Amino acid sequence: MLTKVKTAQEIVAMRESGRQLATVLQYLSEEITPGMTTKDLADLAAAKLKQLGGKPAFLGYYGFPDVLCVSVNSEVVHGIPGNYVIQDGDIVSMDFGVVVDKMITDGAITVVAGTTKNQKVSKLISATEQSLYAGIEQLKGGVRVGTVANAIEKVLKKQQLGIVRDLVGHGVGHELHEDPNIPNYGQAQTGPVLQAGMTIAIEPMATLGTEKVYCDRDGWTIKTADDSLAAHFEHTILITEHGYEILTQL
Ligand code: MG
Repeated sequence: MLTKVKTAQEIVAMRESGRQLATVLQYLSEEITPGMTTKDLADLAAAKLKQLGGKPAFLGYYGFPDVLCVSVNSEVVHGIPGNYVIQDGDIVSMDFGVVVDKMITDGAITVVAGTTKNQKVSKLISATEQSLYAGIEQLKGGVRVGTVANAIEKVLKKQQLGIVRDLVGHGVGHELHEDPNIPNYGQAQTGPVLQAGMTIAIEPMATLGTEKVYCDRDGWTIKTADDSLAAHFEHTILITEHGYEILTQL
């Protein structure tokens, strides 16, 4: 389904959904500590969201068993929370989805648990986040997907990071994944046209190695093929006539 131009009422619901999502991710980034398990993070997310009033969008999605995706180090996305104990210096990506009044937002952050002295890790995380904002800055009614994709690609290429190609951003709102796909590489002025009132999730995924990834035996976790470290950032954004509104930001 092509992502729809949302009604004023749907946008109100998505703003609230995005506010709750950002609140939970902010909370997790403050609470994450070496010694916690990835399941602890998911349980904190579930409890916080319950307090805020929204519903988790990922739980049960194609059978996903939890509310939060937690992907550590060479895991790129879709990690299942479990009994892994987070170590000092681990890179932890947390991807979360929230439903309010049937409207969905999707967002992710990557943080270092504890501290790292590895400058490459800091570069990976900051450049991946920067590439997300470079893509977002292109948004306005009438922009083509390739222009957004190209802006993301340029930032990641400049830092010589691997750009994951097998997974992409997407329309979002009524469903967690709607058309069109929003890749993290591409040619400017090509691809589908995005209209004011559409809502999309942009989500660059980058590695310190190659772009190659594979799916773990658990059927969910996407990992880098060369075991290199990976980062992931994501926002849900409303496209407006002359710009954009980031919904998953406080
Ligand atoms: Mg997404």
